[in-house]
Amino acid sequence: MWDKEYVWHPFTQMKTYRREKPLIIERGEGSYLYDVEGNKYLDGYSSLWVNVHGHNHPELNEALIQQAGKIAHSTLLGAANVPSILLAKKLVEITPKGLTKVFYSDSGSTSVEIALKMAYQYWQLKDPIRYAGKKNKFISLREAYHGDTIGSVSVGGMETFHHIFKPLLFERLEAPAPYTYRLTENNDAEACKMLCLKALDTMLREHHEEIAGLIIEPLVQGAAGMITAPDGFLRGVRELCTRYNVLMIADEVAVGFGRTGTLFACEQENVEPDFLCVAKGLTAGYLPLAATLVREEIYEAFLGEPEELRTFFHGHTYTGNQLACAVALKNIELIEREKLIDSLVAKIECLAQNLEKFHTLPHVGDVRQRGMMVGIELVQDKDSKKTFPMHMQVEHNVILHARQNGAIIRPLGPVIVLMPILSMSLEELEQLTDITYEAIKTVTAQAY
Ligand code: PMP
Repeated sequence: MWDKEYVWHPFTQMKTYRREKPLIIERGEGSYLYDVEGNKYLDGYSSLWVNVHGHNHPELNEALIQQAGKIAHSTLLGAANVPSILLAKKLVEITPKGLTKVFYSDSGSTSVEIALKMAYQYWQLKDPIRYAGKKNKFISLREAYHGDTIGSVSVGGMETFHHIFKPLLFERLEAPAPYTYRLTENNDAEACKMLCLKALDTMLREHHEEIAGLIIEPLVQGAAGMITAPDGFLRGVRELCTRYNVLMIADEVAVGFGRTGTLFACEQENVEPDFLCVAKGLTAGYLPLAATLVREEIYEAFLGEPEELRTFFHGHTYTGNQLACAVALKNIELIEREKLIDSLVAKIECLAQNLEKFHTLPHVGDVRQRGMMVGIELVQDKDSKKTFPMHMQVEHNVILHARQNGAIIRPLGPVIVLMPILSMSLEELEQLTDITYEAIKTVTAQAY
C-alpha cells in the first residue's frame, strides 16, 4: 500500500507493473531472496545483474563493517583514500592491457557519461585546430543501452526507452546490431558479422572526421534482449576504430566481472579498448560504484597547460567512496581466491545442456547464451518470427508464473532473461531453468 502511495518505481507507468502487488524483499541468503511474507525465491536475475557471490556473504559483510568502523566517506576532491587507491591499482592489473587510469563514479550510466565527455574533450585537446568543434558525435549500435542519464541516453538505441528524449540529445550515428536471429534467415552468425562490419566500415569511412568514439557492449547487448555477437565481431569493431582514428569505449557494465565466462568480455577476443566502463558486478551487488578506465595517452592529454582547458570538469560527490571500494576489493579477492572464473566452465555447460529442451517449445524462436547470460526469445510461431502483441502480456505472465514457482526472472521485450548469480550451484541452475521452462510452456500454451 505505502509502496504504491509513496515510491516511484522505474517503469511503473507500464500497466503491468501498476496492476501488480509489489514484491517486497526483506532479506537475501546465498542464491535466494525472501519477501516480507517469508516466501523464498531463487534470484534468477542477480538482483539486476549485480550479484556475484550470493546475498548476505559473510566476508563481504565483514569488509563493510571493518571499513565503516574507520570511515564511511570522505571526498576524492582534493584528498585521497586508501581503499580507492588499492582498488584502482587492482583494476588496472585485472582489466585488459593498456588501461592505466581509473576515474570513479557511482553508476553504470555515469561511467558511460564520463567516457563520452572524456572522449570528446580528448580530441579537442589533442589537436585544437584540426578538431575544433569537430569529432562531437558518437556511434553506437541499434538497440544499444548504455544508461539513463542524458549523455548515455544520447548513445542509446532502444526506441521505447529513448525516443521521448530525442530533442534533448546530442547526435548519434547508428550502426547495425549483430542480431543474427533477426538479420539472417537461418541463424548464420558469420553472414551477420560480415553484414554488420561492412555497414560500420562504410559509416566510418564517410563520417570518421565527425566521430569522437564508438561505444559498444562487448559480446552481449544485454538490455536489448541478450543479443549475442558472432565470434570475431568485437575484434572487427576494434580494428575499424583503429583504422579510422575513432576511440573505442567498451561498456562492460553488464558483461564485466565474469558474466560472459571470462573476467572481462574483451579478453575473449583479445581486444584492448580505449575506455572501459564497469559498474554492476564491481561491488558484487553490495553498493553503487562505477569506474571508467582509460589508456595512458588519453590521461596524458589532460595534463599540462592551459589548466582551464585541460581539467576534466566532472566531480561526483561520492567518487571513490571508501565503503564501496572496500567491498569491491573484497569482491575481487573472493573471485580470485575461489577461482570463480574456472568454476564457471561447468556452470555454463550445465546451463547450455538445460537450455536445449527449450528449442522444442513451439513458441521459443531463439535461445541465446553467452556465459552466464541467457535470452529466450518468444514468438507467435517460428516461421514468421512474429512476437506476441504487447496487450497479451505473455512475457509478463511467464515471469509471474516463475515467481509463483519460486524464481525471480525478468523479461526484456519478447525475451525472457536469465542472469543467475555466478556462485549458484549446478542444482540451483537446473532448478532455475526448469522453473523457466515450465513457465514458458504453460503460459504460451494458454496464450492460444
Ligand atoms: N550500460 C549497460 C550495458 C547496462 O546494462 C546498464 C544497466 N543495465 C548501464 C550501462 C547503466 O547502468 P546503471 O543502471 O548502473 O546506471
